Amino acid sequence: MNIIFMGAQGSGKGTQAAIVAPRLQLEKLATGDVFRAAIAEESELGVKVKVIYDRGDLIPDELTNALVRERLERIAQQRSAGALQGTLFDGFPRTAGQAEALDDILADQGDRVDAVVEIQVPREDLIARLAGRRVCPVCGTVYHLDADPPRMQGVCDREGATLIQREDDTPDAIRRRLELYDELTAPLLAYYDARGLLHRVDGNQPIDTVTNAIIDAISREVTR
Ligand code: AMP
Repeated sequence: MNIIFMGAQGSGKGTQAAIVAPRLQLEKLATGDVFRAAIAEESELGVKVKVIYDRGDLIPDELTNALVRERLERIAQQRSAGALQGTLFDGFPRTAGQAEALDDILADQGDRVDAVVEIQVPREDLIARLAGRRVCPVCGTVYHLDADPPRMQGVCDREGATLIQREDDTPDAIRRRLELYDELTAPLLAYYDARGLLHRVDGNQPIDTVTNAIIDAISREVTR
């Protein structure tokens, strides 16, 4: 089973993917998390992508697609060992070239995209969500200054680490990322809708209501 979460930055894709993936025994593949880890480790990939990432621009398709192919090959091995049901994509694909590459990679594995879930949130709410977002640098837990603050101000509930703001959650980078979403990523919704795979979920509701709506949509799709 291969599920894609779509939605603009700040729509809650990451939060929902972290909840839904273990429930459906899916491996979460969040390309943004992979790039952040590479930057933190200062690996060869990390050094290459840091400047692009910090501006809020997209990493070139060639690099991103190669990374996804490598991860999916690893996931396919775990699936054949029976440990996993499939993959949940968060933040990939983001361009037409990536969507085509994903179809090709999956086809090589005798597989396909089963469902695409778009989490919809009004633009003004997205900007407020992104600007107030704070992240634990150790475990990656995401908080919001007003909507979901940690118990102690500025400190992660789990790790006790000082929360940070992502480099790409600055006003300029936020503007750039939303522009790129509209220009390059939003058109993919029509691509998947034309194949009857697209489900839309209202993301402006409590987290568990959104989770239930997503799981409902996916279950309807896979039992069809
Ligand atoms: P995210 O955590 O999904 O918001 O991604 C953060 C940043 O990582 C993006 O602004 C891009 O610089 C990079 N990135 C993540 N996923 C992709 C992708 N599919 N294609 C290109 N760049 C990506």
